[in-house]
Amino acid sequence: MSSSSEPASSAWPTPPRPCAAAHLPLDLHVDPREAIPALAAWIAGQPGADVRFGTHVTAITPAADGSSVTVSTNRGDVTGARVVHAVGHDVDRLFPALAKEIDLTRCRLQMLEVAPPVKEDLGPAFLTGLSMLRYGGLAATPAARDVKERIQASTPELLEIAMNLMLTQRPEGSLVLGDTHVDEDSTSPFDDERLAELLLREAKELFGQDLEVRRRWRGVYAHSASTDFLIASPHPAVRVVSVTSGIGMTPSFGLAPDVLDGLSWPAAAAGSVQPDLKTTHDDAAHAPVAALA
Ligand SMILES: Cc1cc2nc3c(=O)[nH]c(=O)nc-3n(C[C@H](O)[C@H](O)[C@H](O)COP(=O)(O)OP(=O)(O)OC[C@H]3O[C@@H](n4cnc5c(N)ncnc54)[C@H](O)[C@@H]3O)c2cc1C
Repeated sequence: MSSSSEPASSAWPTPPRPCAAAHLPLDLHVDPREAIPALAAWIAGQPGADVRFGTHVTAITPAADGSSVTVSTNRGDVTGARVVHAVGHDVDRLFPALAKEIDLTRCRLQMLEVAPPVKEDLGPAFLTGLSMLRYGGLAATPAARDVKERIQASTPELLEIAMNLMLTQRPEGSLVLGDTHVDEDSTSPFDDERLAELLLREAKELFGQDLEVRRRWRGVYAHSASTDFLIASPHPAVRVVSVTSGIGMTPSFGLAPDVLDGLSWPAAAAGSVQPDLKTTHDDAAHAPVAALA
């Protein structure tokens, strides 16, 4: 932890400045705008891998003898010995009963990108006290209760909209500010400007200056109050996987091998996780469809 006498970064103007901050030097900041295409390109270069975009899965049908699974798409069928269905918040489209079991909802976030308020490099990410209440690992600490009481007394409206005031810096210096949260079964087309105003108000307070908004956008992720992870086996050869707490980018490199290791493979494929796609699709198209044999 850093305190006001030992600021986390000299970039903060005075006054006001944060009175304490978590300094996490080992944290890694991944820019999704670059990371996701880079990952898809890397996977496409692996032996036997085939990445398709624009391909919508419409049904997943295990063979009666359990030896294979057919994934039906808008561009033809894909057959594999094992199938992992990882569609984020859209689990309820093909597996409504699984979604209902954990009361899966769509969490809608509003975010802002603002012009660089400082010249300095702010480091990987900044979390505020509101983040302590949002993330399970921090929310479970005794200090979180005091933080909540303090915010409840000073700015209860932030708790009402489940604000997580945090920021990351883009390579050219602009800041991505997040975020506010609304849980709903299907996302409304309307964003609430009041939420964006509160987000901006708090960020201005943090930097002690006006901020120029460059972009506004929304994000959606899966949410469940009862679990952070959905890993279901509707059939021994099929896994339905979704991170239901808005932290999916973080544990994904542990979750993915865990799910794959938990699948029992037919004798021919045992000891090997080499994808062997058997496809009858009519177009080399586009969106993650994974059928591993
Ligand atoms: C604004 C925002 C900020 C976030 N910040 C963080 C953060 O700082 N740290 C962190 O760890 N996590 C963060 N998250 C959460 C994280 O992004 C998600 O948990 C993660 O993306 C979930 O990954 P996924 O692959 O399971 O699902 P998604 O990333 O939602 O991917 C699912 C894909 O499946 C596709 N799909 C859906 N239905 C079908 C179908 N029928 N056929 C074919 N394709 C289909 C979708 O188009 C989508 O491309 C954030 C999320 C949002 C929205």
